[in-house]
Amino acid sequence: MFNPQKIEKKWQRIWQKEKIYETNLEKAKKPFYNLMMFPYPSAEGLHVGNMYAFVGSDIYGRFKRMQGYDVFEPIGLDGFGIHSENYALKVGTHPAKQAKISEKRFYKQLQMIGNSFSWDKRLETYDPEYYKWTQWIFIQMFKNGLAYRKKASVNWCPSCKTVLADEQVINGRCERCSNNVLKKEFEQWFFKITKYAERLLKNLDKIDWSEKVKIAQRNWIGKSEGALIKFPIKLHKARISRGSKTNRGALADLPQPASVEVFTTRPDTLFGATYLVLSPEHPLLQISILNLIKNSKEVKNYIKKTKGKSEEERIAEGKEKTGVELKGIKAINPANKKEIPIFVADYVLASYGTGAIMAVPAHDQRDFEFAKKYKLPIKQVIVPQNIRVNPRIYQRESALSEAYEGEGVLINSGRFNGLPSEKARWLITKFVGGKKKNQYHLRDWLISRQRYWGPPIPIIYCRKCWENLNSKSKNQKLKLKEGIDYTVFDGKEYIIHPVPEKDLPVKLPFVKDFRPTGKGVSPLASVKSFYEVKCPVCGSKARRETDVSDTFLDSAWYYIGYLILGNQKSKSKIENWKLKIENSPFSSPVIRKWCPVDMYIGGAEHAVLHLLYSRFLAMVFHDLGIIHFEEPFSKFRAHGLLIKEGAKMSKSKGNVVNPDEYIKKFGADILRMYLMFLAPFEYGGDFRDAGILGIKRFLERVWRLSKEMSLRAKRSNLRDKKIASGYCPRNDYLLDRLLHQTIKKVTEDIENLRYNTAISALMILFNEIEKNKESIVNSQWSMFLKLLAPFAPHLSEELWQQLRTQNSKLKTFRSIHLEPWPTYDPKLIEEEKFELVIQINGKARDKVLVEVNISQKEAENIALSREKIKNWVGNKEVKKIIFVPKRLINIVV
Ligand SMILES: [Zn+2]
Ligand SMILES: [Zn+2]
Repeated sequence: MFNPQKIEKKWQRIWQKEKIYETNLEKAKKPFYNLMMFPYPSAEGLHVGNMYAFVGSDIYGRFKRMQGYDVFEPIGLDGFGIHSENYALKVGTHPAKQAKISEKRFYKQLQMIGNSFSWDKRLETYDPEYYKWTQWIFIQMFKNGLAYRKKASVNWCPSCKTVLADEQVINGRCERCSNNVLKKEFEQWFFKITKYAERLLKNLDKIDWSEKVKIAQRNWIGKSEGALIKFPIKLHKARISRGSKTNRGALADLPQPASVEVFTTRPDTLFGATYLVLSPEHPLLQISILNLIKNSKEVKNYIKKTKGKSEEERIAEGKEKTGVELKGIKAINPANKKEIPIFVADYVLASYGTGAIMAVPAHDQRDFEFAKKYKLPIKQVIVPQNIRVNPRIYQRESALSEAYEGEGVLINSGRFNGLPSEKARWLITKFVGGKKKNQYHLRDWLISRQRYWGPPIPIIYCRKCWENLNSKSKNQKLKLKEGIDYTVFDGKEYIIHPVPEKDLPVKLPFVKDFRPTGKGVSPLASVKSFYEVKCPVCGSKARRETDVSDTFLDSAWYYIGYLILGNQKSKSKIENWKLKIENSPFSSPVIRKWCPVDMYIGGAEHAVLHLLYSRFLAMVFHDLGIIHFEEPFSKFRAHGLLIKEGAKMSKSKGNVVNPDEYIKKFGADILRMYLMFLAPFEYGGDFRDAGILGIKRFLERVWRLSKEMSLRAKRSNLRDKKIASGYCPRNDYLLDRLLHQTIKKVTEDIENLRYNTAISALMILFNEIEKNKESIVNSQWSMFLKLLAPFAPHLSEELWQQLRTQNSKLKTFRSIHLEPWPTYDPKLIEEEKFELVIQINGKARDKVLVEVNISQKEAENIALSREKIKNWVGNKEVKKIIFVPKRLINIVV
């Protein structure tokens, strides 16, 4: 009886004992880094969707190992951070305690599925040995001006009680808890990812990644080519004439020169700009300008009202646009020198361009809607090329029902009339003294979190150092940059110092009340023994930063972490490295050998989170000379998603498949194969209980046949010898050809992650093997087992070992998973022979193997010369012969 549970436990034990999946990181000759996104324990355990992803990655790794590569397939837990902390909060356990529970639970599940993980080199991101490097990275970022503090309007999740990066807000909601995210003004730590926007974009062309992930990154980085154009500002005449001298004085207070700079991707429509819009956060809307306008109270109220709205809410399509005109001042359209009104409106975001736009209602739908509402002029300046009018005389102010946003020919644009819009862009920009400019949607990565469960940000603030500097020359003081060299708390300046590397890690203290405070500070801010610290420079009393870093920083470098922590020799202490980054374990020979990652598999939902952050950090490390490569993952494939009986799995629907139950009932091999059989791995699949039985029956048949064959072991051995001496029984040719065709198919399918069709090919092959079980030889059977090995690792190991012990007296263990992957004979596949069925009066009487292009005459000769046929025909007269090429010959007598 096939008892998967019994053999699976046995082989898992033996594999671990024999360390067959433990790669020697230093000595490996053909390194292949096969990485799967490590799980984050945000629930009780792994669900079947996780298993789906892990198995898919493992099949590829096993395949590469059999192809002769030294495959490194590590595993760990992304257990630091908000997701794990939220789960700990939910179940009411301290996160440190919960981490130990999750470790046990997750690792047990990951063992059960039978993946070829390198367990010796596992890591957890909350291990101080690991996060000292996370902190070290923060320090390198800071020292190189890529980490800075800034007060900004940021995303605040009222439920998680922390700020979030833009990437972690999905459709206005928190990526973790799905609550609506608010905007709040906070001073926070940022990583300067925007500095790498262009390179992050360009390099996408160089890497072999799932196209949908590349598209998502391109969109997120959001490059737009355009121009910066200045609109001079003017106090309204009436205002000046009525006003006193103080008003003229106030004009002088305007930021000089008194103008508003806008970013536009369509400078060709400049003549159609009929008003200007400032975002509520625009620097011009500071006190100075509010004093100059007539309706400052109204404007102030409006600005106040928009503060509570999320960016998504503000720019949502179809939403009614609101705004207030700044009465008493005007802007001047630099193209036609016309005075145009200035509005403040929240559909313009501070984060886009300069935080101000020129509104061209005829050619931008949002501006159009706004202009309609506030009865502002709509002036057409572009007409579609196919309009049959001379654009020079096309002056009709047609009643547009919507904006025309396409390209075309210019009208109403002075000397630019008649030019194609694309050509006019740069000419008009030049005409008004504007500048070409690329704009990106990407914002800097907000890295600080007001939470407990994460690596403390390794920064110290010192007031004394500020005072010491202050007593020195004025010049020196002026060189300090706010946010990089110093910061301000409660109106007092503090110098920012990184924690000296030798003092890493800054350990996260055990804090009983770890719950988020909601006051904009981490729970660590109430732990005096933690935040009170000696200044590393002057030795006086200083303050530690009490925020922790974003969990996505932990995972942005873990693929290097496996190699550093997994390799004892590079586990050097920080004190030993003379503080030079070239000597860091990040540039050790082991990293050179294994990085970048050869194959990375994970979820597409991480496209603009983990996958973007990892690329950014690798580029920074590369530029700082820390690592030798700038793209972390040479190949990335996104796996598909699993659904259940046509519906998305969710707890509320109660249709979440718990893999443990299935492993208990069917064993890992059956579950693995079933998951992979559903659909192409990159598509995902629909999990149906009925379907798994088909795979169960298939593997049971494999098991039974193997048992039958071992009974005939001796005979099989004999046949093997016959083959060696050149004897080839008739059936072996066809079976061999199918076998070789299957090797080709399975090899190509696995390479392309088409596991489902690889499994069907194995099933077809097995059917033929079963039919020919009398003549099947060991060499053929062992090839089948090898092809099956990545999919059903336990069963194939068991049957392979049975075959081995039959064949030889060898007692040393050698796993099937270290056997060479079968190769096919291209000649055997090409050399087309087929089995010609010979019929007498429509009844099959004989079969013979013949060349595929055999002529009717040749087929007749062969058929009639067969002993069997001669007997059937006897003395009868052959009346007719029917020949069906590639199939049969029918002799009518
Ligand atoms: Zn949240
Ligand atoms: Zn100091």
